[in-house]
Amino acid sequence: MKLFNTETRAKEELIPSEDQHIRMYTCGPTVYNYAHIGNFRTYVFEDLLRRTLKFFGYKVTQVMNITDIDDKTIRGALAEKVSLKTFTDRYTQAFFEDLQTLKIEKVEHYPHATDFIPPMIEIIQGLLDRGVAYRGADGSIYYAIEKFPSYGRLSHLHLDELKAGASERVAADEYDKEHVADFVLWKSYDAVRDGQIFWESPFGKGRPGWHIECSAMAMNILGKTLDIHVGGVDNMFPHHENEIAQSEAFTHQRFVRYWLHSEHLLVDHKKMSKSLGNFFTLRDLLQKGYSGVQVRYLLLQTHYRTQLNFSFAGLDAAAKSLERLGDFIVRLRQIDQMVSSGDVEPFLKKAHQLFSDALADDLNISAALAALFDLVREINALCDSGKVSKEEAHKVLYLLEQFDQVLAVLPLQPVSEEIPADLQQLLAEREAARAVKNWKAADTARDQISARGYLIEDTPAGARLKKK
Ligand SMILES: [Zn+2]
Repeated sequence: MKLFNTETRAKEELIPSEDQHIRMYTCGPTVYNYAHIGNFRTYVFEDLLRRTLKFFGYKVTQVMNITDIDDKTIRGALAEKVSLKTFTDRYTQAFFEDLQTLKIEKVEHYPHATDFIPPMIEIIQGLLDRGVAYRGADGSIYYAIEKFPSYGRLSHLHLDELKAGASERVAADEYDKEHVADFVLWKSYDAVRDGQIFWESPFGKGRPGWHIECSAMAMNILGKTLDIHVGGVDNMFPHHENEIAQSEAFTHQRFVRYWLHSEHLLVDHKKMSKSLGNFFTLRDLLQKGYSGVQVRYLLLQTHYRTQLNFSFAGLDAAAKSLERLGDFIVRLRQIDQMVSSGDVEPFLKKAHQLFSDALADDLNISAALAALFDLVREINALCDSGKVSKEEAHKVLYLLEQFDQVLAVLPLQPVSEEIPADLQQLLAEREAARAVKNWKAADTARDQISARGYLIEDTPAGARLKKK
């Protein structure tokens, strides 16, 4: 599988640091508001990546953090005169509901920043000890970017060409490239700004800066070096640049092996903004009568490194495409012909190959969907001339199920639903063992499956279980 690494600006072969196991970090939401469809574009892309990795047999351990402490959450809680937790819990819960609506798979870890203050303090202390961090005149702790020679390597900034330098500081969590400067690690407490929201630390009362939160949670859960770090392109600078600087100056090891960034979402070719009246949360779209799956399909179908132009015409077209797929599935289910023509199999084999090849090429979703729609057209034509048997229709449905493990948009009741989940798991283990030529483990899994009264049937689309 090849992925485009933002740091090298090149497609690279994905080689996990540990055999078949991908440790992945994805920057999660700042829970001060409902997430908008631009945010969800990134989360849907991350879900596509996660599901594709699993489709190819990788084990995935993914972390998505919940930023429940930063400038915006504090401001929100103080404005409503509620505790930080009361304020952020509401939007955290809404976020999880939205993920479910969009059929975004649950990841392994959702750490809250407020639960990881001690590891953050540890890193900041380490950076102070190494002379990479210092206390500013305002009492806050800052990172000295001049002490990290490769600062700017992710976003390809050339520090020497920039006017702003290490003599300036920025205390805000978010800032743009015009303000490259030392950034805050620990913000000292300010009663007017922070109300009663602060933590104790060796550097005095205060709270962590946004960037240190991700470094601490990522390394605490996944280890010093991550295989993949993903986020929206707007987080590349300063957020991800700062994550690298903090983490590597602390561990002296590489922080991330592959950086992936998804492009912006535009609405009718314009930047989404409240003032333009083209700002949408997922909830706004549901209220207009669209379904989560329709929105998912729309967000999914554009390659992640291309800007996605959202429009209601596009959403209607997505709904139409899904309807066509739904009609096809209903048609397959109604076939009761017993005689097979043998014409179906080659089309399944081709579709599976094209679909896999497309995803393995930096998640080329357009080509993967084209393979799906070509299959629909080809099988529909065979159905028209009566050349598809019930058994063949089932094989088509089975392949669609496999595709849908990645896409999660098809109205499928899995045909293999009656097979117990633990047996499906055993089958997956057997496939994983075969992939790494561990024949002994593969045979053990096969024997266990057999003892339960099931056979393994190898089809062009991979192995499946069948009752003996
Ligand atoms: Zn982050």
